[in-house]
Formats: sequence, structure tokens, C-alpha cells
Amino acid sequence: MFDDKYKFTCTERFLRYVKYDTQSDENSASFPSTEKQKILSADLAKELKEIGLKDAQMDEWGYVMATLPANTNKEVPVISFIAHVDTSSSVTGKDVNPVINKNYQGGDIKLQNGGWIIKESENPDLKNMKGFDIITTDGNTLLGADDKAGVAEIMDAINYLITHPEIKHGTIKVCFTPDEEVGRGTEKMDLKKLGAKYGYTIDGSSRGEIEVETFSADAVIIKFLGKNIHPGYAKGQMINSIKIASAFIDSLPKDKLSPETTDGREGYVHPLAFNGNEEQTILKFIIRDFDTKKLKAYEDQLKDLAEKTIAKFPGSKFEFEVIEQYRNMKEVLDKHPLVAEYATEALKNLGIKPLMHPVRGGTDGSKLCFMGLPTPNIFDGGHSFHSQLEWVAKQDMEVAVKVIIEIAKVWESKS
Ligand SMILES: [Zn+2]
Repeated sequence: MFDDKYKFTCTERFLRYVKYDTQSDENSASFPSTEKQKILSADLAKELKEIGLKDAQMDEWGYVMATLPANTNKEVPVISFIAHVDTSSSVTGKDVNPVINKNYQGGDIKLQNGGWIIKESENPDLKNMKGFDIITTDGNTLLGADDKAGVAEIMDAINYLITHPEIKHGTIKVCFTPDEEVGRGTEKMDLKKLGAKYGYTIDGSSRGEIEVETFSADAVIIKFLGKNIHPGYAKGQMINSIKIASAFIDSLPKDKLSPETTDGREGYVHPLAFNGNEEQTILKFIIRDFDTKKLKAYEDQLKDLAEKTIAKFPGSKFEFEVIEQYRNMKEVLDKHPLVAEYATEALKNLGIKPLMHPVRGGTDGSKLCFMGLPTPNIFDGGHSFHSQLEWVAKQDMEVAVKVIIEIAKVWESKS
């Protein structure tokens, strides 16, 4: 039973954390990609200490780790709750000025600046928010619910467990990471130091979401090599690589296998960069599918099309490189079914319908799974990430806090 007299701290924390500008930077080679992320992380370590996690610490890379010791005699596997402190590089996170729309009664929400409107028609979840307090931006920045909602919820759940020692739980590790948004969130993460057997990222969206399946992902670089010569003397000699690459792009299947023509469980082959001159043109593709084996089939198909293309340009050549990016976390989570099962059970115990759908992307969890920490992703209540239209309901954040507490309880009771 949840203590109904408990005063949640997640909203107050959240409103404080979004004031820190923690935007990460895709173009930075340092780690973390921006130093400013560490300002929030250092303060989070301090806060964890204040609420009673004595070993709370931020390491040189900006990872915050802390332990809530077990208070049970049972042998419970160590679990970890993980959230990222950085915000997307696509919209500024400086001077965030959150606006609380109390007791929402339906309809569109007009933001104060920039003419932005959070439309009911584009946000089906708003239908479940009647009477809730919806936190939005003022229209000038993103909100940062991705993933400061997750950070605040983990903090609050730990605070609850500490103030309610009658709830039995195993050892719980807290981990706050930098640079998730630039795909480097696990780069310097010391899993040995974390010492957890299973993890949960609190970084999903709608109430009830548990994500156990992500894309598998490769990148493909194709370099078309032509032959350059002064255009004034080029007759019969020049082989223009831009034209070869264009012919290749034109030969791709048009009505299928593209992000713009697929959804659900379909994969895609997506060109995202085209750079060149007469001599050489480099194309960059990303390849995505839930079935890892299909990536190879798509890549073979691309190679075949490239061969057919250069056959039409005698004297030209191409180079083909595949770079592995990440793999579907399901391959790992299927071998550790309890992790998702216990999260599902926690939701059911709280009367929340579990929503499980495959993620058309990757999460830090996809990397962590293959680094040895099976980690599904749980909702944090945020919506419309990476934009001025981002919003989160106070009541959803509180539900996420309860879910985190309940997951800890389920692990203890099942052990
Ligand atoms: Zn996130």
C-alpha cells in the first residue's frame, strides 16, 4: 500500500532541474560533450547524499552513482534506476521557464511565446489528462522532461524508500548519465563500479510504457570514385562521381524501406548525407530493422545496386563500409525475462495497463543490454520530446515514482 500522506517531491525537483542548462553537443569531441552538464550532476550527487545515500558521488566523466543499501535478509539481485541529465541539441535548454497549467480540462494548450500550440489532435494522450496539472514551456525553449522527469522521479522514489523503511527492498543503485542525446551516454560508464545485475532507464513517454524492443542499427558508408579532369578537356575522359552517386540514389526502391513510408515493425534504409565532387562522392546511410539478420540483407541489396550502378559508368569504382551501431535489446532481454516481467507486474499492482511497443530507435538501454546490464526502458510521463511543445503532467510523474518503488518491492517479494 502506498502512503497517501506522502508529499511527493518529484515536481518541485523537476522544476528546479530544468533551470540548469544541460544541453549536450553533437559536435564536441570531449566527454562529457559539454561541461555544464556536470553542474547539475554534481548537485544531484549532493542531493542524494542529503537524502541519505552516503556513497553518492560524481566521477570525472560526470556519471553520478549512489547506493541505497538493502534492508531485507533475502538475497535480492541488485537493480539500478538510470536517467540522463542532458537535453537534446536540437532546441535550446537555456533559461527554461516552465508554466504549470493547473487542472487541465481538455482542448489545445497555447504557449506564451512563439505562437506554439500543443494540439489535442496531435497529442492523443491529452485525453487521459483531465484534471491533471500539465507542465509546459513558455514557448522559447524545450522543457527538458527528457530526461529530467526521470531524474526527479528516481530521486523522489529513493526519498520515499528512505522515509518508509517498512518497505523491504534489495540493494538499489542510482545512476545519472551525461550525453544520452548525442548517443554517447554509456561511453565512459563504469558498470563494474555500478555493480548492478539489472537496470531500468526511466526515459520513456506515456504512462504505462515499458520498452523491451528497439531497432538494430548499422551505418553504411559508400564512396563512389570517378575521374576528374578539367571540364574544358573532359570529353570522353571525365567520370563524374556526383552523377554516379545520383544514379545510385535514383535506383533505390521508392515506395518501401524508407522512414517516410514505413512504421510499426518495418525497417528502413535511409540516406542521410551526400557529399562530393567530380572525383569522389560519399554517401552515408543508416540501416534499421527489429530483426538483426535483415540488416545484412538490406546491406547486400545496397551493394548489389552499387555494383549495377558503376557498371553503367565504365572506369568508376566504389568502396563499401558497414559500421555496427547498436542492436535490438530484445535479444538480451529475452534471456533475462524477469526484468521486464517484474516491471509489468509492478504496473499491474498499481492498476496501470502496461503498454509495450517496439521503439523505432535506440536507447541507452540497447547499449547497456549488450554491455552486460539488461535494461528495459520505463515511461517518465514526458511528451513531444526535443521541442518547444514538450509537456509532462505532474500526476504522471507521481505515478512513475510509484512504479519505481513498486518495481523494487516486486524484486524483493519474488526473491
Ligand atoms: Zn531521453
